[in-house]
Amino acid sequence: MSLASTDTTLERLERRLYRTTRAACEAYALLEPDDHVMVAMSGGKDSYSLFTLLTKLVPRLPFPVRLTAVHLDQKQPGYDGAPLVAFLEKSGWPFEILAEDTYSVVTTHVKEGATYCSLCSRLRRGVLYGAAERLGCNKIALGHHRDDSLETFLLNLFYAGKLQAMPAKYRTDDGRFDVIRPLVDCAEKDIAAYAAQMGYPILPCNLCGSQENLKRDKMTELLNQLEKDNPNLRAIMANALRNVRPTHLNDLDVARAWFQAGGEDRRAPRAPAPEPVADGRRLRLIGVSNEDSER
Ligand code: SF4
Repeated sequence: MSLASTDTTLERLERRLYRTTRAACEAYALLEPDDHVMVAMSGGKDSYSLFTLLTKLVPRLPFPVRLTAVHLDQKQPGYDGAPLVAFLEKSGWPFEILAEDTYSVVTTHVKEGATYCSLCSRLRRGVLYGAAERLGCNKIALGHHRDDSLETFLLNLFYAGKLQAMPAKYRTDDGRFDVIRPLVDCAEKDIAAYAAQMGYPILPCNLCGSQENLKRDKMTELLNQLEKDNPNLRAIMANALRNVRPTHLNDLDVARAWFQAGGEDRRAPRAPAPEPVADGRRLRLIGVSNEDSER
């Protein structure tokens, strides 16, 4: 591939991701005047893309927003965060590297054969929340994208018996921060292609030796399989998360809250919107705090 065509593809990808990210930020009020946002950097493709897109978006906002990137060294064997540090230094944006041996805690406390991720995520969240408080951040930005949200939705539907995806924004259970997901409408394949073309120094994510998240992988496989017959499947599913009919579910609390908020009765079928129409109020109704759905 020639350099020119590579650049064109990169520009096109970046434009699409930037537009989608900006639209999500506007629709869900993810960035507001005088926010100080902690950008959680795992060193994976999603967090690098999130960081780049936010550093492009924030200077163009008509109000001040501060960003501080934060990365946690969890002391996994073979970990080397130097490439990420070099990337952040070069960016010129404020950042902080934390170190906490959550790896030892996890390997000591999790029974053999069980997956580490649940305890690991909880420990990591505690460290990050502590850092956010110390840095004076009121928001924490995570790199979850559309496909993460859809897989979480299916996992909750099939294994937990509840309708719950990943909202673009939610207040932490302790009320201290808003967690935001600016990439929530971005397709993973676009992010992967963008990250590859940007040449991000990705940190390997298998250092912990945790078993693969088999259930989540199955959801990815299922979606891939269904997408063969229906190429727009993921976009349609994502739109469904913005097109909830509280009157056609059997959760009376949801229906009551909907009517109390002045919602229309949606018994009449509606044609799906060609472009997703974000509606913060609807999302709040279904988007109960879902810290447990984080990986
Ligand atoms: S995969 Fe991620 S969340 Fe799971 S144990 Fe490893 S570092 Fe922790």
